[in-house]
Amino acid sequence: KSSNLKGYAPICLGLEDFYTRRLYLRIQDCFGRPIASAPDAWFDVVERYSNDSNKTLHRTTKTSKCLNLGSYNYLGFAAADEYCTPRVIESLKKYSASTCSVRVDGGNTKLHVELEELVARFVGKPAAILFGMGYVTNSAIIPALVGKGGLIISDSLNHNSIVNGARGSGATVRVFQHNNPAHLEEVLREQIAGGQPRTHRPWKKIIVIVEGIYSMEGELCKLPEVIAVCKKYKAYTYLDEAHSIGAVGKTGRGVCELLGVDPADVDIMMGTFTKSFGSCGGYIAASKEIIDHLKHICPAHIYATSMSPPAVQQVISAIEVILGEDGSDRGAKKLAQIRENSNFFRSELEKMGFEVLGDNDSPVMPIMLYNPAKMPAFSRECLRQKVAIVTVSFPATPLLLARARICISASHSREDLIKGLEVISKVGDLVGIKYLPVEHEKTTS
Ligand code: PMP
Repeated sequence: KSSNLKGYAPICLGLEDFYTRRLYLRIQDCFGRPIASAPDAWFDVVERYSNDSNKTLHRTTKTSKCLNLGSYNYLGFAAADEYCTPRVIESLKKYSASTCSVRVDGGNTKLHVELEELVARFVGKPAAILFGMGYVTNSAIIPALVGKGGLIISDSLNHNSIVNGARGSGATVRVFQHNNPAHLEEVLREQIAGGQPRTHRPWKKIIVIVEGIYSMEGELCKLPEVIAVCKKYKAYTYLDEAHSIGAVGKTGRGVCELLGVDPADVDIMMGTFTKSFGSCGGYIAASKEIIDHLKHICPAHIYATSMSPPAVQQVISAIEVILGEDGSDRGAKKLAQIRENSNFFRSELEKMGFEVLGDNDSPVMPIMLYNPAKMPAFSRECLRQKVAIVTVSFPATPLLLARARICISASHSREDLIKGLEVISKVGDLVGIKYLPVEHEKTTS
């Protein structure tokens, strides 16, 4: 269908078999190009990231430089940093870019051991293990923890890496309604013989998997309630902190710190280094017994090349800054700034009449577009005005719940945020996505 946004109206071209063997609508713009390859779409090639803590991007297409409201660079560490960068360069000289070896055979540098100890201390668990990629951390660790005869109960909006890990584990998988501890309890009761807590049950092991901040919802996990249910039914808790570790909590220790949960009450803590720490890789933190078990049996630990040493050094240095162990208060300032920036941006969007998902303090802020046809129009118009924003729909969300997902960083200045808000407001009017009534100031008579 055409619309008044000439050139931007996408059309849906029937149903296709996706790799998951599910059906989906293929969305093309009105020139018949798939959205992903249409000019100026978000998916085009980035020529370079700028030096200003990645708050702006340099792109190869018409927009030469634009405000970046789409990066997971929550604390601004994904750029040259006075403390981290010299240390990363030093580690590159000392160890090179790759160990070219697995951990168990020559790939276990002093840095890897140091980071495992530091991560364990940071998140408040006895031990930790590193992996080269966050995605693999979930997809390889879940099958190493639970298999045939086990039960996984997974939040319905968990990340694809969790879904794949659960599917590949051979365990029975059940899904509970998103962030709904009462439904989690219902599912658990159904799966336990007699429906009574602590009675005989057919499962060797039960693991409940949740996320700290849901990546497409910007919502905080109802962790205290989830833990209470898990304790009652003797299930293990597995918490993915990809978007929350380093980003929330007074000292950056994630949702446990923010929600007043004792880390001892979470059995398995998973996180990635690709967001708040400006690096790559992932970790699992847990008891010494669990970590030892994983070190001995997890194929992704035994057969995969270890994390790149400069990437390891980047995380060590970033955590040192966060903890103030660099001798400055930059870490504390970054944490206060991301909180202030996130809460300011969210409340301004809401005042403008956008439907914004998620909770206060969360730097992830989805603005609902609903109709996937509005995605390319929204992102291209923002980009034309030099603001880069990620838009998402199926398969990352249900098809008709398309959204623009803003990620706020401590490195955004107030001027950046105001510019972003102005552009989003204009484009919101253009594509028609302001749904909520705007409260006008009451006038006194
Ligand atoms: N878990 C969650 C919740 C994620 O959002 C992501 C990716 N954004 C991952 C795991 C995978 O992490 P990585 O990108 O570091 O591989």
